[in-house]
Amino acid sequence: MVTKVIALSKDNRAAALKEAGKIIKAGGLVAFPTETVYGLGGDALNPASAKKIYEAKGRPSDNPLIVHIAEMEALPSIVEEVTEEAKRLASLFWPGPLTMILKKSARVPYETTGGLDTVAVRMPVHDVALDFIEAAGGYVAAPSANRSGRPSPTTAAYVAEDMEGRIEMILDGGQATLGLESTIVDLTVEPPMLLRPGFVTMDMLSVALGEVGVDETLLRGDSGQAPKAPGMKYRHYAPKGELIIVRGKTEAVTACINERLREGRRINKKTGVITSEETLGYYDADARYSLGKKGSAKAAAERLYRILRECDDEGVELILSECPDGAGVGAAVMNRLLKAAGYHIIDV
Ligand code: AMP
Ligand code: MG
Repeated sequence: MVTKVIALSKDNRAAALKEAGKIIKAGGLVAFPTETVYGLGGDALNPASAKKIYEAKGRPSDNPLIVHIAEMEALPSIVEEVTEEAKRLASLFWPGPLTMILKKSARVPYETTGGLDTVAVRMPVHDVALDFIEAAGGYVAAPSANRSGRPSPTTAAYVAEDMEGRIEMILDGGQATLGLESTIVDLTVEPPMLLRPGFVTMDMLSVALGEVGVDETLLRGDSGQAPKAPGMKYRHYAPKGELIIVRGKTEAVTACINERLREGRRINKKTGVITSEETLGYYDADARYSLGKKGSAKAAAERLYRILRECDDEGVELILSECPDGAGVGAAVMNRLLKAAGYHIIDV
């Protein structure tokens, strides 16, 4: 299959979205930009499309897909009930980076939900995503457009690296501005439960809903439980090199990381560090990557997946990372970084 890559401009936008919509309606796959990361879209109501998505990603089919909609009117027919909580969250955070889990209606095939009786739904805020979903018939199932096990793609070029030859089309709408996947909240349990942290933070959810539980597996690798979002059990976002996070006071962290880097070099490993802008110069490594200014979770979120891909591209074998601030949106950054590191964290 030849993958058509279209760089969207004012002039070609309408025609490209129409063509992309036709591909989806015919059962094909199109990668498209959203504000979080690039999505790999197929018709959410067509079982064959869901199967194709799993194949293209190399993803196990027990891992459910998120159904993307473009307007609130699209919601009632794919869920058993639009609950009060769902209405409240939608009015506050949709369109935006929040995915809600609700009981599914018969209209949604089990292929899309990985065999579950619940369905994950999100309304993105990206204008290309919204117009594409409309053109595609209103229901686009889309996981992140990476091959399983690779970091989620934040640019069309990264999508092409993973998906060239596997899907019909890639819509290039520039860089995904947020850079991390949506927050996922399960509204089918009492109290509602956070399954994946993101830009809609725990605090924001609590203000809207009152008590909100947290899936215990989120911040620890050793809870002994299966994550509630099936996809969270896979070792996602992993760079090829070994990644270790070091947490503590700046001086101790710097000393520990530099010691580890020296050890790595002694055995001829290519080394890398992931640090704040301010401390980038403290380290002696073959490759240095900045997550942005200390405490800026937004900058870190935008850069993290690109950095992990660059580590692979540059063949870095040992990566030491400072521990970013985990408050607010930082919780999402920490969650992805911990997963990438296989929960390997050293406290100093
Ligand atoms: P991705 O689209 O790559 O961000 O992956 C979608 C995430 O949503 C995965 O972690 C899924 O396990 C999760 N998810 C989708 N549908 C459900 C559902 N019905 N219940 C729980 N988690 C879900
Ligand atoms: Mg993903």
